Amino acid sequence: MPELPEVETTRRGIATFMPGRILRELVIHEPRLRWPVPAGLPARLQGQTVRACERRGKYLLIRFDGGTQIVHLGMSGSLRRVPMQAPLRKHDHVEWRFDDGRFLLHDPRRFGAVLWHPDTDGPLLAHPLLAGLGIEPFDPGFTPEWLHGQLQGRRQAIKPLLLAGRIVVGVGNIYASEALFQAGIDPRLSAGQISRPRCARLHEAILSTLAQALEAGGSTLRDYVDPQGAPGAYFSLHAAVYERDGQPCPRCATLIRRLVQGQRATYFCPHCQKR
Ligand code: ZN
Repeated sequence: MPELPEVETTRRGIATFMPGRILRELVIHEPRLRWPVPAGLPARLQGQTVRACERRGKYLLIRFDGGTQIVHLGMSGSLRRVPMQAPLRKHDHVEWRFDDGRFLLHDPRRFGAVLWHPDTDGPLLAHPLLAGLGIEPFDPGFTPEWLHGQLQGRRQAIKPLLLAGRIVVGVGNIYASEALFQAGIDPRLSAGQISRPRCARLHEAILSTLAQALEAGGSTLRDYVDPQGAPGAYFSLHAAVYERDGQPCPRCATLIRRLVQGQRATYFCPHCQKR
């Protein structure tokens, strides 16, 4: 599944091209994504200039005069630049055509979304999909003290709480498991019981796992124009615990365990990660 680093890498990719260019045509090859692509959108956007490519959580925000396209890559999506004459592949659902460039949303499972938020509907960040999102992990306001304050009084286990994204966005299943391992925190520990120093380690671990993945993403940008770029090939983080159940912990050689929390798999070292 595309996680925040993949989405941020996609944003950086489209942001090197789209802003300042005129969208000649938006072509909907398949409107049935997670929600239907608004039928009037191609007519609305034809001839409009892209003003900016931003991101909030895992939503790409393509800003035009008068409104913003909200794009989500779903479970399996990618948004890549392709050569002008490259044939459409199966699962290429939405196409952005410029005079000298072309982008395709490729999404085999169709859990992605292409929506439109007109400015007349109010502030973009008050949109129902965006309003409940937590702080951005690389926002200067995301500090160890702030995180500790947010966890106070919460009885929910730390792993599903991080995964929910309402405190801080972008800590998907891989990153939550890896960050808790790095910080030495048992994923079942109540969030409110995490001490200030351990919270500082968790904060550091969240930032370093995401930064590591972003760095890996930077290298995939070189393949950005490759139409053959395998859309499912997301960044491979060098995982210490994620999907390594039954294998020895890289620190202590205890076997990594898998458990299910909130219907999502969690991987951890029962020796290194303490309650
Ligand atoms: Zn261990």
